[in-house]
Amino acid sequence: MASSVTEETECKVENSAVDEITVQDAREKEKAKRCFSEQWEDSDVILVVENEQFHVHRLILSLNSPVFKAMFKSQFKEATANEILLPGKKSNEMLDFLTKVYRPHHTKRELQITMENVEHLLLLSDEYQVTEPIFKPCVKFLDEEPKTMENVIKILSLAELYNLEKVRQDCNDLLKGMSLETLSDTVQFQSIDRDKLQHLLTQRIEFLEGLLKEVYPQFIGLAECCMWLWGEASKDMPELCRTHYRNGKPNTNLEDRFKECDECRLILEYIANDTCPTRLRGGYLDYSNTYGTYYTDRHRFDGEVSKIIHKVSQSMQM
Ligand SMILES: [Zn+2]
Repeated sequence: MASSVTEETECKVENSAVDEITVQDAREKEKAKRCFSEQWEDSDVILVVENEQFHVHRLILSLNSPVFKAMFKSQFKEATANEILLPGKKSNEMLDFLTKVYRPHHTKRELQITMENVEHLLLLSDEYQVTEPIFKPCVKFLDEEPKTMENVIKILSLAELYNLEKVRQDCNDLLKGMSLETLSDTVQFQSIDRDKLQHLLTQRIEFLEGLLKEVYPQFIGLAECCMWLWGEASKDMPELCRTHYRNGKPNTNLEDRFKECDECRLILEYIANDTCPTRLRGGYLDYSNTYGTYYTDRHRFDGEVSKIIHKVSQSMQM
């Protein structure tokens, strides 16, 4: 009870901390907005976005952006106009972009890159080629941001848009490790195009096949080892298959023995099911029951093992 009260209190404290950050952020944004809303420090040009004015400096924009520099030096009207309209852009996003261009020194606001603003900061810094102050820090942010079920698709689409190989690889590593069910919840198969879906599923299959190729030889090795140990330790050793065993040792590998020989399969099933001697009847094995050893509710070793070896070895041959 005490702990749940503490948790609740902690939760409230955490929530109020989040609220405080949001309020503080909104206040700082408002401050930065005011900074651009009227003439300041000899600003000499106005950018107009969604009817909102941003008073800025040709020199600062030119120093940071070769695109603005070219615009101000061009023969077009932007070179001399007092107001430049930027249609199709959002004023909120432009404010973030300019805040980042001007740095806290001018706007008294240090804008942190977040999952909420990284998309438009990338878009604008790519368009205006503001590489060092914005584009590269955004890439670094995406690179370092932990990839989760919630953000992976957004990050992947940005990685693809801007060709960020390392970020794309991190996202793909997370996606190919997801079960089909989780993947389907995360990606929402219906909402993505066919090529992308095919790519996601192909990489998932490649991942699983690779895993199977690593696990299967170990699994067969363990089964072989188990049979050998059992043979060494058991006084109630059933008569081994005469075709494939000489002096208690197999003359060919387990997969080949299983392919052609029922007796060899039954020996492993017997070992896996139970080594209890009462199940030996008159020197022959009794396979009428399946017992097996259950180590936990998820892990077991029972007579099914030979069927699994058969299925896997068949699927690995194709
Ligand atoms: Zn055999």
